[in-house]
Amino acid sequence: MRNNYIKLDKELFLPTYNRLPIVVDYAFGTRIFDINGNAYLDFLGGIAVNILGHSHPKILNAIDNQIRKYMHLSNYFYQITQIDLAKKLIDISGYDKVFFSNSGTEAIEGALKLARRWGNLNSKNEIIAFSGGFHGRTYGALSLMDKTKYKDKMGPFLDGIKILEYNNQQELENTINDKTTAVFIEFVQGEGGLKVADKNFIDKLFKLKNKFKFLIIADEIQSGIGRTGKFFAFEHYGVKPDIVTLAKGLGGGLPLGAILTTNELSDVFETGMHGTTFGGNSVACAAGLVVLDELEKGLQNYVVSISKYFDEKLHYLKEKFSIIEEVRGIGLMKGLVFKCNASEIVDKLIKQGIISNATSKNVLRLVPPYIIQQHEIELFIEKLELILADY
Ligand code: PLP
Repeated sequence: MRNNYIKLDKELFLPTYNRLPIVVDYAFGTRIFDINGNAYLDFLGGIAVNILGHSHPKILNAIDNQIRKYMHLSNYFYQITQIDLAKKLIDISGYDKVFFSNSGTEAIEGALKLARRWGNLNSKNEIIAFSGGFHGRTYGALSLMDKTKYKDKMGPFLDGIKILEYNNQQELENTINDKTTAVFIEFVQGEGGLKVADKNFIDKLFKLKNKFKFLIIADEIQSGIGRTGKFFAFEHYGVKPDIVTLAKGLGGGLPLGAILTTNELSDVFETGMHGTTFGGNSVACAAGLVVLDELEKGLQNYVVSISKYFDEKLHYLKEKFSIIEEVRGIGLMKGLVFKCNASEIVDKLIKQGIISNATSKNVLRLVPPYIIQQHEIELFIEKLELILADY
């Protein structure tokens, strides 16, 4: 039966995805169960989405309550669940205004439009992003990225965007000027191999911002909502960007993204200049409220303590196995850099009942649900030790 589904999948879909060899029956907590009854421990968490694990009872309950009231109305209406989530996001983040989207790439598109319009109003026309960055698959987002893997023969892309080397202060200094409109940055690059921005690099960026008055846009789609131990990864640097994009974990497993910004930028868009049919769907917002609530009630503190333990264990592995070159990332957004192809390790981990994924060819990405337990981390380390003993 499993093979039938795999065959059908290949027949039915455009070949855009490289799927793991698992036909899923259901998922609960930190476990995914396939149709043959095998259980897998989930260190991928729906690619950094399932913060509270799978099918969290409070999320199910919140969704159920909302669905019984209504599922979709459109953004023509005032919707209390949407307002409640916006209020909570504002309270937690210290920003002033929200726009809800359905996905990460749509949050980036909105931020890009906001930045471009602000630039046009202020006689600025250059946008900067960084190599290794990942911002999504729509044209605006792709225009902020340099990887040919995502862009090959798909142009033309947007004009007026320069991609600089990540963590290269000199390039910042050489490129930024009074025409610079905005800089898009991931403080921890998710798809880009879990690279972390240097403190000096960020300091230089904000120094240049003071001088040339451009916008800094933090893409926190993967690193936000508490994943690094703080609500936003940029909080580790003591800075505050002008615009933040969120998605992934925000909807507790339902599609939801957001743009957060300040009062100063709130008048840049006029009515009708941006919008979406589904963005801010109340069912997704109801799930999002549970996520933020759980974070406040202790889950954020738990991320800090469990990720310390995780980090120690990953460093222990690095000391023991020379095939591991580096431990990267912050909090529960971690990468093991291998001297071999990381997809090899992913395949072997699946055979041991563990789900992870490879990014940037040689990096094993580990973004588990925040509810991951110490004994589950131990199990993961044990299985990886078994695999690496052969290297
Ligand atoms: N930005 C970052 C940092 C991401 O990691 C991703 C997705 O992986 C995106 C943007 C795009 O988000 P989505 O896939 O929801 O469009």
